[in-house]
Amino acid sequence: MKSVFIGDVQSGAHDGAEVELKGWVKRTRGNNNLRFVVLRDSTGSIQCVVKRDTVGDEVFALLSEALIESSMILKGTVKVDERADGGHELAVLSGNVVGGVDPERPFPITESAMVAADGGETEFLLDNRHLYLRTSRMTTMLQIRSSAFGAIHGYFRDLDFVEYQAPNFVAGAVEGGSTLFEVPYFGRTAYLTQSWQLYAEAAMPALERLYTVAPSFRAEKSRTRRHLTEFWHAEMEVAWASNDEIMQHGEGVVRRIAATLLEERSDALESLGRDLNTVERYAESPYPRMRYDEAVETLQGMGVDIEWGQDLDYSKEKVLTQDFDVPHFLTHYPKVAKPFYHRVDPDDDAYVLCHDLLAPEGYGEIIGGGERTWSEEEILARIDEEGVPREPYQFYIDTRAYGGVPHGGFGLGVDRVIAWLAGADHIREVIPFPRDSRRVTP
Ligand code: ATP
Ligand code: MG
Repeated sequence: MKSVFIGDVQSGAHDGAEVELKGWVKRTRGNNNLRFVVLRDSTGSIQCVVKRDTVGDEVFALLSEALIESSMILKGTVKVDERADGGHELAVLSGNVVGGVDPERPFPITESAMVAADGGETEFLLDNRHLYLRTSRMTTMLQIRSSAFGAIHGYFRDLDFVEYQAPNFVAGAVEGGSTLFEVPYFGRTAYLTQSWQLYAEAAMPALERLYTVAPSFRAEKSRTRRHLTEFWHAEMEVAWASNDEIMQHGEGVVRRIAATLLEERSDALESLGRDLNTVERYAESPYPRMRYDEAVETLQGMGVDIEWGQDLDYSKEKVLTQDFDVPHFLTHYPKVAKPFYHRVDPDDDAYVLCHDLLAPEGYGEIIGGGERTWSEEEILARIDEEGVPREPYQFYIDTRAYGGVPHGGFGLGVDRVIAWLAGADHIREVIPFPRDSRRVTP
C-alpha cells in the first residue's frame, strides 16, 4: 500500500516533511540538469522537481526518460510554493521507475488527441476507454459516480429499507418486448432483465420496504445521449404506499444525491464547469407535480403535435421541460399509454396512478414509477386486455392470490441522474465502459 496521497500533500498535510509519493507521470519537461515531473495519483497531481546534482546521473537519466503514464516512486521534501499548481511542490531526493512505457508505444491519449476527440472523434476515446479512465475528466466522473451510488444506498438504508437482489436471467418483459435481449439458455430462450420490479413485488409482502441498485438491460436500437443497453437502475418497492408517497421518496432520493455531490464532490463538479448554485437548487427545492392532461395542454399550447393518449417521448419531454428550473413529476398517464402492472385510478379508469420525474436542462425522464395493479382479478383483466401472454407472469399473478395489498415503487436511471447533475453532454461520459447497440468493447 502507500501512506501518502498527493491530495493530502496539496491540502497542506505534509508541509516541510519528507515523503514518498507513488503515482504516474502526467507530463514532464525540462533540460539536461533540471526536470519537472508532474506526478498524479487518484487524488490529484503535483509538480516534482528533479535536479541532476541532487539525485545523481543515473536516477536523473531514469526519471528524465520516463514517458507519460510511467509509474514511479519519488522521495522528497514537500515545499510550499504559491506559483506551483495546487500550491505545493516536491523537491526530489531520490526515485525509481516501477512500470515504464515503451517509447515505440507511447500513451495514446495526449492533450491533442483529447482536443481532436472533442471535435467528434470520440470513437478513438471509446476504443481506448481502458486508458481514457485515467484522464482527470474520467477520474472525476467516476468519483462523482461513487458518491451518487453511496447517496442512494444511504437514503434507503437510513429509512430501514432492505437491499434485495432479483435474478438477471428472466422469462418475461417488464418494459415491452422490443427492447428485450434474448439469451440462449440450454435449449430454451431466456432474457436479460429490464427491471427488478416484478421480482421485487414478489418480496414486497416479506420485506415491505425494499430497494436495489443493479444493472438493467435494454436492447435500445437507436443510440441516443440518454440510453445505454446496460444501465444502472436504482429501484424501490413499498407496501401500503400510494403514488404520492412513492413520489416523495423519488424526490427524496434525487435531492439526497444532489446534496451528497455538493458535500463530497463540489470541487469535482466545479472542475467540470458545473454551476454549484444550480445543483444546490436541485438539492433544496421541492419538485412540483403536474398531471399528464395539463402537460398535453401545455404542449398543445406551445404548438407541439400531440394527441391525448400518446406516451410522451423525449422530443415532447424536451419541449415541456425547457422552462423548468427544477425536476417536475408528471402523473396520471392514460391507461392506454402504460403497461398492465400500472394501477388503474379508482377515481377515473381512463388513467393510471403513475409518475415520471422529468429533469430540466434537456435531460428528460430520470424516474418512472407508480402504484401497481394489486388484486388478482384486476391484474388478469389488464393482462388479457393488453394481449400479454399469462404464462411468463404466472408467479407474478400468483403473488396476488395471497393477501394482496396496495403497493408501488419506482425505477431511477442512475447513470442519467449522474449525467444530469454533472452536466455531462452524453450518458456514456459517466460510466466506465458504456454499452450501446454498436459497442461491447473494450
Ligand atoms: P425512456 O422513455 O427514456 O426510454 P423508460 O420509460 O423506458 O425511459 P423506465 O422503464 O420507466 O424508462 O425506467 C426507469 C428509469 O430508468 C428511467 O426513468 C430512466 O431514468 C432509466 N432508463 C430507462 N432506460 C434506460 C436506458 N436505456 N439507459 C439508461 N437509463 C435508462
Ligand atoms: Mg425506454
